[in-house]
Amino acid sequence: MTDSILIVGGGFAGLTAAIECASTGARAIVVERDAVVGGRLAAAMTQESSVGDSVDGVTIPKLSALADAENIEIFTLSNLQSIDGRPGNFSVEIRERARFVTDACTLCNHCRPVCPVVRPNEHDAGLSYRKAIYTPLAESLPQEFVIDIESCLNTPPNYLPCNRCTEVCDDDAIHFDVALDQLHQRQVGAVVLATGFATFDGARHHGYGTHPDVVTAAEMERLLTAPGPTGGFAAKPSNEDYPNSVLYIVDDPTPFAVYTAASQIERLIAQDVSRIALLVTNQPRNDMRAALQQQLPSGLTINYGILKKVEARADDSITVSYADFSSSRIPEEQYDMVVLNSAVGPARSLDELAQVADVELSETGYIATPDATNPHTTSRPGVYVAGGAEGPTTLAETAVHAQAAAAAALAHIDERLLIGDAVVPGRDAAAPAAPPDSASDVQARIERALYAMLDSA
Ligand code: SF4
Ligand code: SF4
Repeated sequence: MTDSILIVGGGFAGLTAAIECASTGARAIVVERDAVVGGRLAAAMTQESSVGDSVDGVTIPKLSALADAENIEIFTLSNLQSIDGRPGNFSVEIRERARFVTDACTLCNHCRPVCPVVRPNEHDAGLSYRKAIYTPLAESLPQEFVIDIESCLNTPPNYLPCNRCTEVCDDDAIHFDVALDQLHQRQVGAVVLATGFATFDGARHHGYGTHPDVVTAAEMERLLTAPGPTGGFAAKPSNEDYPNSVLYIVDDPTPFAVYTAASQIERLIAQDVSRIALLVTNQPRNDMRAALQQQLPSGLTINYGILKKVEARADDSITVSYADFSSSRIPEEQYDMVVLNSAVGPARSLDELAQVADVELSETGYIATPDATNPHTTSRPGVYVAGGAEGPTTLAETAVHAQAAAAAALAHIDERLLIGDAVVPGRDAAAPAAPPDSASDVQARIERALYAMLDSA
């Protein structure tokens, strides 16, 4: 028997599951593909985060507390290679790719300006740029810089070797003469798959690319997240002015799209954006329209119709026209920003992970959960799933799933091996897992109105 649980995915779901395990005295081993943990919420997990300790009413762990936790082991730039054995006694193999920067890195930032390679920063939804040597956030876990070896000029086939970063690093923290990857073996009692879901550029039609202020919901989320490229304000990418009017186009009103739009609109209202509209492609019953509109906060309207055109105007605003369902008109309206709902789908390489973990996928490509009464169980005993790996989930749902998956996983380890006084980052061990607070009133009203509209369509 072992005292350890393996958690694949270091985003909010994985870290919440890790904290649940750690709070009982178990050892949580977190495997994350990215160079840092935290996923979409990494910026909110920093001490300096302007969003405080919670997002949408859900408590967010702090990276510093995770770093201090003795019984949470984190592998970044890593993949699960194999799982052998049975529940209670799995042997797992983890492949860790080289970072090329050691923990001697003092974050002095001398290397970044001299690096000639510029790439869109995927941690900022591509809204800012990074170098080949970089740190995604000012505060991250791990802290030290990382080299994106795929784009570094020092990588074969390359005939112009570059050592600009090593030449300016006074702390001797950069080393290219290291193994490209290392294998680690661990014994674990159970596995939690918590890779989250992915947002795609599926929304990149409807005028995307014709104007910098036509953005996807994923990009708007980044703008609204501090420390994001605009400090958490919905500044327009074109000129960093604050928008007076914003249109959301929700052409695929899934529960996740509704939740995202409602959550972002609540924050835009708090930032004094005076005119916000939603254009949805579902037609409610005519007798419901007035009632639905009454439920909305002032300044927010819902239009129902088929989008016809999104076009940049000479004065830098954006013209949107749509075929209104309730009339034969095609209204034209002007907005400062347009937000397109992002398509969501299974995380990159979830199918590979499913193969390695020997679990089945559902028809939609997420991890299948065949037992409807235990939605965190997969087709393989001892392997559980949490959060967006089983389908798009809200933050509150993710927190509940992660806690349930961790509780199920903990049943496979030997209680006698647990640490007595466990370090419990971001959670009071004496208290049961607190259910997430309800979302704010404004967000809840918007969501209620949209769901009522979908029901009445
Ligand atoms: S120059 Fe060296 S110590 Fe400074 S940030 Fe870069 S890698 Fe770290
Ligand atoms: S060696 Fe690579 S990371 Fe360093 S400066 Fe050159 S391109 Fe950038």
